[in-house]
Amino acid sequence: MLLETQHANFSQQVLRTDVAGMPLEWIDYRDAVRLYHNEQVAYACGSMLYLVHGGYSAMTGERSVVEVNSIIATAGKSRGGHAVPHRYVPPLNNKTLFRRDGNLCLYCGAHFLSRDLTRDHIRPLSQGGTDSWQNVVTACRRCNNHKGGHTPEQAGVQLIAVPFTPTYAEYIYLKGRRVLADQMEFLLAHISRSSPLHERLTLTLRDGIGRHRDQHS
Ligand SMILES: [Zn+2]
Repeated sequence: MLLETQHANFSQQVLRTDVAGMPLEWIDYRDAVRLYHNEQVAYACGSMLYLVHGGYSAMTGERSVVEVNSIIATAGKSRGGHAVPHRYVPPLNNKTLFRRDGNLCLYCGAHFLSRDLTRDHIRPLSQGGTDSWQNVVTACRRCNNHKGGHTPEQAGVQLIAVPFTPTYAEYIYLKGRRVLADQMEFLLAHISRSSPLHERLTLTLRDGIGRHRDQHS
């Protein structure tokens, strides 16, 4: 298999959607080629990422070529085998949490590298708080230490943004390693205008992706 790429490397992820265009998951070029070979790709959108040359046909002597686009709509379900449930709650992990909050400490408002951030429970676990999207925010070590085992009211601090549970499309966006402009635009259409992420994505697209801090968090 010979591979040509429009990008500097082969790790650019492909956004897989269902036939109706609902985002499902990120896949790599190998998964994408497999879907093309199994004739599961209904249509493609976005830009061409890879040109994959396969074997020569014994019948015609022609070489098979698969064009892999940045967004592919497929028949069938996601790798997990489940359709996206209506009320989906994505798994909570720090990487996605920090991206939800744009790598900002939601107490002092400063921007940090992921390694300098922590998961703060707004209502502490010791006071009956839960480990859930709506009760957790990104906090720098200093603010988290200062707040300790208290609620914001008890500690005399205020949140600069309201925590939220990402929808499925938002979660896909937050999980993306390096989201291309056309993929971002596609995902944006599935994100509610009232979501804080809608504004952030719109600004990122407007200002140019490479310069936005969200891309190298
Ligand atoms: Zn802070």
